[in-house]
Amino acid sequence: MAGGVPIQPKDSRGYFMLPQAPEDAGYYVYGNVKGVPGTGALAQYAHPNMLSVIFWVEREWQSIDDRKFGIGNISVANGLKYDHASHMKGVEMDIRPVRKDHMVGQAARCSRFDEKVYDREATIRLLCLFLRHPLVTKMYFNDDKVQQACGPGRVKSWPDHNDHIHIEVSERL
Ligand SMILES: [Zn+2]
Repeated sequence: MAGGVPIQPKDSRGYFMLPQAPEDAGYYVYGNVKGVPGTGALAQYAHPNMLSVIFWVEREWQSIDDRKFGIGNISVANGLKYDHASHMKGVEMDIRPVRKDHMVGQAARCSRFDEKVYDREATIRLLCLFLRHPLVTKMYFNDDKVQQACGPGRVKSWPDHNDHIHIEVSERL
């Protein structure tokens, strides 16, 4: 497995780390904790509702697109505070906009301003999938064309959300 994680780590809340993007997954993982390279997995402990949403979306996504989408920070083990004001409960996650190419991994960053690589139409399709899931409550991304395409009030602006989309799910089990 990528990152050499031998078993699925679980924290004191009983939350599992997101499987580190097995070969046949519809997503790949990126990110780090406090800027330290290779530590992205440490910030991918997810509430069960978040895992449900991710696994449902990745299957739907794989039936319409052969690119993997990038998943970054969720929460660190035991819900401690780290680089974000939020991202402590395992119900918040950052993903990357879809690229026009098939690049994956840490270097596959993509901003909405990067016309050469940013695939707006595919990003809209991906975000619409997330929004179809009843557990998804909030989404932040600053592309106003995406906001319009996803329906009134579903995707909102938030400072710095140009190269990632912030997604929140309900905590209620
Ligand atoms: Zn976020």
